[in-house]
Amino acid sequence: MSERADVVVVGGGVLGSAIAYNLAKAGYDTVILDKNEFASGASGGNLGQISLFDRWEDWHISLALESLEMYKLFAQDFAIDFQETGGLVVLATPEQEEMAEKIVGRFKDFKISPQILKGKDINSVEPYLYPDEVCGAVYCPREGRLDPFAVTLMFIELGKQYGLRIRPFTKVIGFEKKGSMIHKVLTSKGEITTNLVINAAGSWSGLIAQLAGASIPLKYHHGTAMVSQPVPRVIFGPVVGGGFLTGAMLKTTTLRIGLSAVQSARGSVIIGQGTEEKELDSKDVPLKTFHKTAKNFSRYFPKLMNLEIVRVWTAVTPYTNDGLPICGFSSKVPNLFTAAGFKGAFTTAPAIGVKVVEYIRGRSNWPIEMFSPDRV
Ligand SMILES: Cc1cc2nc3c(=O)[nH]c(=O)nc-3n(C[C@H](O)[C@H](O)[C@H](O)COP(=O)(O)OP(=O)(O)OC[C@H]3O[C@@H](n4cnc5c(N)ncnc54)[C@H](O)[C@@H]3O)c2cc1C
Repeated sequence: MSERADVVVVGGGVLGSAIAYNLAKAGYDTVILDKNEFASGASGGNLGQISLFDRWEDWHISLALESLEMYKLFAQDFAIDFQETGGLVVLATPEQEEMAEKIVGRFKDFKISPQILKGKDINSVEPYLYPDEVCGAVYCPREGRLDPFAVTLMFIELGKQYGLRIRPFTKVIGFEKKGSMIHKVLTSKGEITTNLVINAAGSWSGLIAQLAGASIPLKYHHGTAMVSQPVPRVIFGPVVGGGFLTGAMLKTTTLRIGLSAVQSARGSVIIGQGTEEKELDSKDVPLKTFHKTAKNFSRYFPKLMNLEIVRVWTAVTPYTNDGLPICGFSSKVPNLFTAAGFKGAFTTAPAIGVKVVEYIRGRSNWPIEMFSPDRV
């Protein structure tokens, strides 16, 4: 294979797919590559929760709210199981509660009204959550869920309608450069001459940057989750633990167990998650991770102790030390644009796709300097 494209997008997860769709729609001759199937990275291994309360920075909540409006429209035409159910952040300690009280105020400007619930009020939202285990819970009315596979594949299908060329099972193995600029993308199936490369390879984005002669401050960790047999509705919206409020989840490099749960339209309960550092391509799920995650879930949902688990998996997701994503052109390789490390990217992917392409076209005042790939 030897071909040409205006733009090559590396990575067919939700971010690469959303960007590729918007590029094709804007008239760019675009190819999207993935070393595996599309949605085979973190985008195929996540819970599909739409979370807002963990996005209190202005830039982040704006992206999330714009994306929610777009999902509403997409859901009219595509079976993406988008449901604005409302969600709960479970507050397990007085420290988490104190932090949550401070954050609630941040959302007033955005006309979202999270509320702190106590005792029986919690059960009016999630009847199976055991209130004695928690200090309180934040109810966030605009949170919800979606089907992450369906969303990623929707962007691919939409892109194809605008001429997007798709290349699954095509691994990027190197770049040919002219001076500092990428001239050709070298893949396991041949080469593609191009003017612009979008590095949307998720946790592998650091490797792609390195192949091109750049470096980005991206880290990654694995998240382990499990799914049950379908059952009648027992979890009504996304439920997450409040560990992120006090940074407890980031303070250790060993196994961290947090609470997250959601129930799909088909009735499967998806339970997360154990977070740990492992080799990038590892798919191993240690028994202790599975066991501790299940035990933690049962503590909060004791009545669901008998759910039958049918599958356990691990997926690798990127993060950065400063919590900001990496989004922008590299100064070392000026035609390499990275978009990676957005926290919980499903909540924000539709708007990120639009904004990245507006920025590339020079039609945006999106302040992405703070997301610079050149920061250390
Ligand atoms: C257990 C778990 C639960 C999560 N739950 C949620 C949730 O409920 N809600 C939420 O919003 N987010 C959640 N996330 C995070 C979310 O999944 C990620 O933010 C999102 O999927 C990142 O998308 P991405 O496109 O950047 O990366 P990915 O989906 O990882 O896509 C990167 C793609 O690049 C491809 N690639 C890598 N190297 C190459 C190469 N050399 N050549 C070609 N292709 C390559 C990979 O195969 C992969 O498909 C969760 C993550 C995990 C792990």
